[in-house]
Amino acid sequence: MAGITALTSVPTSELNCTERTRSNSSGTVSTPSSSFDYTPGDGDDILKSRVVVPYSLKSVEAVLSLSKTTTLEELTEMVKKCKQMVLESDQCTEERKWLVRRLIELRLRAQELREMSDINSLETQVILGHHLVPQKYQISSSGPMYCDHCSAAIWTMLQSWYMCNDCGYCCHWKCITDVRRVCANVVASEAGGYIFTKEICPEKGLSAQLYRCAECHMKITFTSTKVLSLPCFGSAFRHTDSGCVEPRLCDYTGLYFCQRCHWNTLAVVPARVIRNWDLEPRKVSRSASQLLGLLNERPVLPLEELNPQLFTLVPDLSVLKRMREELQMMKKYLVFCPDADFQGLPWRVGLRTHMIENSANYSMKDLIDLQSGVLMEEISTAYDAMRNHITESCELCHARGHLCEICGNNEVIFPWDASAVCCHQCNAVHHRVCWSKRNHCCPKCMRIKKRIARESENCGSEEEESG
Ligand SMILES: [Zn+2]
Ligand SMILES: [Zn+2]
Ligand SMILES: [Zn+2]
Ligand SMILES: [Zn+2]
Ligand SMILES: [Zn+2]
Ligand SMILES: [Zn+2]
Repeated sequence: MAGITALTSVPTSELNCTERTRSNSSGTVSTPSSSFDYTPGDGDDILKSRVVVPYSLKSVEAVLSLSKTTTLEELTEMVKKCKQMVLESDQCTEERKWLVRRLIELRLRAQELREMSDINSLETQVILGHHLVPQKYQISSSGPMYCDHCSAAIWTMLQSWYMCNDCGYCCHWKCITDVRRVCANVVASEAGGYIFTKEICPEKGLSAQLYRCAECHMKITFTSTKVLSLPCFGSAFRHTDSGCVEPRLCDYTGLYFCQRCHWNTLAVVPARVIRNWDLEPRKVSRSASQLLGLLNERPVLPLEELNPQLFTLVPDLSVLKRMREELQMMKKYLVFCPDADFQGLPWRVGLRTHMIENSANYSMKDLIDLQSGVLMEEISTAYDAMRNHITESCELCHARGHLCEICGNNEVIFPWDASAVCCHQCNAVHHRVCWSKRNHCCPKCMRIKKRIARESENCGSEEEESG
């Protein structure tokens, strides 16, 4: 492994004077270690070393800096130069710390270039449905990254690595030949959405898995609690006496995983929301986390079909449903209005499209945002903009309003008005009060019925009309 080689080839006395800043910036982001004994290795120190260059070394930095075009020969020369400077520097000074770190970087890069010379170019690899795109030496903005295969840190500035365009699976360049997880995008497309929406954490027990990780088939068991932590980079597993790894339960699949395949990532689990309106995040496996992440914004949950009781239990949900139904009604006006189109109504009003497209399907993000209030704000803004256009600002849309046929009043009413009611058969709109007085009997429907009866009578007996 490149990292180990480079690290161990540096004299330990020199490494000891590097300061050990262990502040892990990722409070919420899950790492392979979030619950136990994994400590980010010296890699983190090295990554930070880029930030501060001792003033006396400013000129040296340019000479010893890496670029994408640096060749192996240049690197070998730089390593030699840097090593010499380390030896000439005073012990435990900022200068020496910086030089040692830079030496490690240079060696790592050289090692990688040697390894990579085997393959001519880094191209997008299609493996188990993943589209793994090579990523080169980026400075990652969102804290440390970890390999989805070996769960060790990816030194994004120093190492070549891949990321799947579809599901976000990341791995080291050297791990790409061992990828075992099928792309979450493939899993999601095959299933057409979530697989587990009915049962909450459908656990069958370890024996059903033959005491092996559901993904990589590594032996896992609860037999002992003794911890033999291996401080070695990338292999920090909680081992039990028998040499097995402690299992971790995935709340989405109900399956047990080893710690490489389950990083205790927290995610809101669909079945818990649908059954219990429980939006508390639970620990899920990496594969589940990638799948849930991928499906998060997709409106694949026919919520009322899955659990109609939810709509009486959660008042906001029934309000939301009603508003979506009304948005569908408004959409019918707006799509025929050139002015509305010019104003970006209804599609570019800043509302997630499926809210206007239909009123039955929800995404997990919708439900999470409904709970937090974000969705209600979003939908209210869109609702007001659409209604204002039709009922107030646009003459064309306003002219398409209705008059109540029952009372003959000349007040223009719209199907979404609280005081109005829409006939489900002919779409005529009446005052709610008038509608009640008439015993829910629609005059327009009556007229249509009479006409049909008359016509069929005419057809049947070829006689003159009688009424
Ligand atoms: Zn993928
Ligand atoms: Zn790896
Ligand atoms: Zn595993
Ligand atoms: Zn209009
Ligand atoms: Zn009326
Ligand atoms: Zn009617």
